[in-house]
Amino acid sequence: MIRLLFSAPERDWPVWRPHLIRACAARGIDVAITTNAAHPATVDYVAYNPGGGLTDFTPFTSLKAVLSLWAGVERIVGNPTIRTPLCRMVDPGLRAGMVEWVTGQVLRHHLGLDAHILRQDGEWRNDVVPPLASERRVGVLGLGELGLACAEALSALGFDVAGWTRRPRGAEMPTYAGPGGLEALLARSDIVVLLLPATPATENLLDAAALARLPQDAVVINPGRGPLIDDAALLAALDRGHIGHATLDVFRTEPLPPGHRYWSHPRVTVTPHVASATRPATAADAIAENIRRGETGAPFLHRVDRDQGY
Ligand code: NDP
Repeated sequence: MIRLLFSAPERDWPVWRPHLIRACAARGIDVAITTNAAHPATVDYVAYNPGGGLTDFTPFTSLKAVLSLWAGVERIVGNPTIRTPLCRMVDPGLRAGMVEWVTGQVLRHHLGLDAHILRQDGEWRNDVVPPLASERRVGVLGLGELGLACAEALSALGFDVAGWTRRPRGAEMPTYAGPGGLEALLARSDIVVLLLPATPATENLLDAAALARLPQDAVVINPGRGPLIDDAALLAALDRGHIGHATLDVFRTEPLPPGHRYWSHPRVTVTPHVASATRPATAADAIAENIRRGETGAPFLHRVDRDQGY
């Protein structure tokens, strides 16, 4: 019998429970799933959401792996009490949600929808017809599970897409890598989408110098993580009109404090970290599959590289 501790906010348990039971049964895993950490020494795997409040893994003496329920692992990757493999969440439902959100935000800005939606004032403004997607250059920073799917969806719509990643990769679009590549990618991005993880190497990546590389009136869309952006530099670039708009889903401090300038800036859209979410119906299979692998000696999927931080 495998013992899985589901460590997440209480409200998540009834939603996840049937999916975890189904996904484990489908793989022939005899599992007892609990939300009670009273007997840590008996736990084989922890399904982990930071909202569950678990921080000290020292008492989990039989632990085989920590399986993150989130794609972003910045809140757990540096936890020194974890001595087992740590795997992040890769979930088709999470990916599909992110593709829809990013596509929607890009189309909003590309089509200039605000000009009509925010001004239903009786004036017939037919002087501007939206350009075609092929005339719009989109840059995607981070071509991982989420960034690549978004880049491919935008390419399929006809956008002129290029990506930036740590290591060069064989994506079917122009791909840039390294600091020099970032400058080149930014210089050709009318709309830039940030889908990088928060690591020491990505902190303040979009600083004053990087923002200055973007073309006049460029749009910044950040569903990645708040620390990717130097907030003061972004606000300054918005204030002086260099950046046309920023749509921000993630922030250094969440919830974003009520008095923060992002809430009131006329060219900022704030969404409350809802770009996408792990979907239990599909994500339970990712958890169960890694338990199956752990039990059969196969390598875990999506194991986090602690040195790189993602
Ligand atoms: P992946 O780990 O699959 O992809 C990360 C990508 O970022 C890879 O292409 C990687 O490059 C690149 N990268 C990492 N570090 C650097 C660097 N220093 N320089 C250049 N490129 C770098 O992550 P996902 O696509 O699954 O998720 C991305 C992020 O999205 C998550 O970390 C999380 O922060 C965020 N997220 C936000 C959600 C929301 O609702 N707002 C929901 C879920 C996730 P390489 O391929 O070379 O390693």
